[in-house]
Amino acid sequence: MSEGNNVEIICVGNELLIGKTVNTNAHWLAKRITVLGMKVRRITVVGDDLDEIASAVREAISRKPRFIITTGGLGPTFDDKTLEGVALGLNLRLEENEEAMRMIREKYERYYAEGRINSCEMTPHRVKMGRLPEGAKPLPNPVGTAPGVLLEHENIKMIMLPGVPEEMKSIFDESVAPMIREASGNLTFYEASLDVRNLPESELAPMLDVVMHDNPYVYIKSHPKRSEGTSHLELHFSTTSDDSKVAKKRIERAILQLSEMIKKKGGAITPVKD
Ligand code: ATP
Ligand code: MG
Repeated sequence: MSEGNNVEIICVGNELLIGKTVNTNAHWLAKRITVLGMKVRRITVVGDDLDEIASAVREAISRKPRFIITTGGLGPTFDDKTLEGVALGLNLRLEENEEAMRMIREKYERYYAEGRINSCEMTPHRVKMGRLPEGAKPLPNPVGTAPGVLLEHENIKMIMLPGVPEEMKSIFDESVAPMIREASGNLTFYEASLDVRNLPESELAPMLDVVMHDNPYVYIKSHPKRSEGTSHLELHFSTTSDDSKVAKKRIERAILQLSEMIKKKGGAITPVKD
């Protein structure tokens, strides 16, 4: 059985490990999943390597999150190995999935009709994108060719998304966000930030202890900023609730208490608007 509201993200791609590509997919997914009320517990990055992908998947499964989301490696080229790696990790076979093959074929037929490609033949490289772990289902890709993939394993929803950010985002918003929203029971994440100057983090630390103790549902994190001479930091307040009024109240109460303490010590506070 999977427990809690935990989500793990596994990003696949050598380009991430050599510093060629910034892992914006992980950042975007973490933010979205948090706002949808679930908790991202771990983000793993592995190269385009079958054994590395398989072991990352097995390790994530052993922690029993509700969702495991992978990005990258779904395309037609030799280095796109995510589905094979997932299948290896779960001891499943890859098999041609009829629905996935239809989605891919329709895409290439459309590109061909639009004159964007020279042939809509289902070459082995194109067929490769429709070979899914047994029992998996394709998720439509509104902007690209390779479908996303959904695989339910031991009550964990495994979701494989492409690496291209626009494709990853559109499959997530269309097919994955509703599943996460449902699983979180409509919990929502609320946040607010304060900009604090003229108070060193070491003087703020004991105040945070008190306010977090008095406001157990509110998580407060200080983010030091670079500044010349004076101290400058951002204080981030967050909470998760199914009632927006309750969430807002909790955050307001914590902000009020902490603001009074900071002002007494001569700190300057401004709310941060996003
Ligand atoms: P395609 O079907 O286009 O081949 P794919 O699923 O195979 O997609 P990859 O080949 O792994 O995806 O990556 C495609 C491109 O997407 C990479 O060149 C890179 O620029 C970008 N990309 C991959 N992973 C990430 C990531 N984690 N964050 C941001 N960009 C990424
Ligand atoms: Mg690729």
